[in-house]
Amino acid sequence: MSDPTPSRRIAIADLRYAGQMPPIPAHQSAPTGHVADRLNRPLHDLRISVTDRCNFRCSYCMPREVFDKDYAFLPQSSLLSFEEITRLARLFVAHGVRKIRLTGGEPLLRKNIEVLIGMLAELRTPDGQLLDITLTTNGSLLAKKAQALKDAGLRRVTVSLDGLDDAVFRRMNDVDFPVADVLHGIEVAQSVGLAPLKINMVVKRGTNEHEIVPMARHFRGTGSVLRFIEYMDVGATNGWRMDEVLPSAQVIERIAAHHALQPLEATQPGETAQRWRYADGQGEIGVISSVTQAFCGSCNRARLSTEGKLFLCLFASQGHDLRALLRGAYSDEQIAGAIGLIWQQRSDQYSQLRASASAAAGERRVEMSYIGG
Ligand code: SAM
Ligand code: SF4
Ligand code: SF4
Repeated sequence: MSDPTPSRRIAIADLRYAGQMPPIPAHQSAPTGHVADRLNRPLHDLRISVTDRCNFRCSYCMPREVFDKDYAFLPQSSLLSFEEITRLARLFVAHGVRKIRLTGGEPLLRKNIEVLIGMLAELRTPDGQLLDITLTTNGSLLAKKAQALKDAGLRRVTVSLDGLDDAVFRRMNDVDFPVADVLHGIEVAQSVGLAPLKINMVVKRGTNEHEIVPMARHFRGTGSVLRFIEYMDVGATNGWRMDEVLPSAQVIERIAAHHALQPLEATQPGETAQRWRYADGQGEIGVISSVTQAFCGSCNRARLSTEGKLFLCLFASQGHDLRALLRGAYSDEQIAGAIGLIWQQRSDQYSQLRASASAAAGERRVEMSYIGG
């Protein structure tokens, strides 16, 4: 293998201190184009957290005892600007990214988020194709923002909703936010054409499990796809306990007791949800079984934190500081080379190893509101 060019060598050297980079052999040159990691997983999805702040305090994500008025959220100057995010996104696309999801914290709290969407919507794949750009939101500001998001080029949204019962929903968001406002946001999103919507419900045993069947019934036949997510041990503050996880298999059983279901084949590699269709043609549902049936083997997602750190796994403790490269006057070629090298070094598979000691030990994991769900 030939020596790297001088410019590439700078990027490789810089990585050694831009976030816990494993040593890279001096002779290794920076990759261009599509990249695969050590487990032969391609880079396909990029999740970008645009803010670490949120107007909800869901106990499984930002428990209010931790995320209180004294909590040190990131200052504005730490956040990547829209130009920085777009530049990085373009470099990720050159390495194979085809899908970008904006998340947070609550992404609709980021001022002028529609401007960023407009900038990302102008990106193209090397063969001139549009990217699949989407956004995950708690829905609280959706009614107000849906039209501007659609006009900016967003095609779909995912709305998180943990139940239809107002008391249960208010308790779970822990800021007394009414469910009717989120349902209204969903209707507006549908009416402006941000469809088909996905609706994410995190299921916590003993908290909202009795909402599974009413939620399924509510969204059946509407075109929206309801997805049930197993409660995960992400971050270090939610006090996760295995006995609060309701396995997806039980979710399917409970729904199938009322409406016959048939399994569907995956349509895309790396799909997180196992899909089921209603036998009577009234649409489909999905289950995301990150705890009971890990899908690390096909995980093709990179995560960019609010302050520009690249994380290779939802359960990582350390990220690679791409902001240092952006603000350090490195060229596109150098930063793209760095991204490619980081991905090639990846071997994360936390959920697959969850049960073993190797996953349990280690450093404090980052919070989901920071890294982006
Ligand atoms: N605020 C937005 C929202 O709630 O949709 C976007 C960010 S949120 C971190 C992204 C997704 O992560 C949401 O669907 C949320 O329900 C999910 N989530 C957060 N904490 C979780 C946990 N401990 N287990 C499973 N899913 C979780
Ligand atoms: Fe906020 Fe979303 Fe986390 Fe709930 S899940 S606290 S809405 S970031
Ligand atoms: Fe991907 Fe990490 Fe989740 Fe496994 S645990 S699916 S590697 S994000």
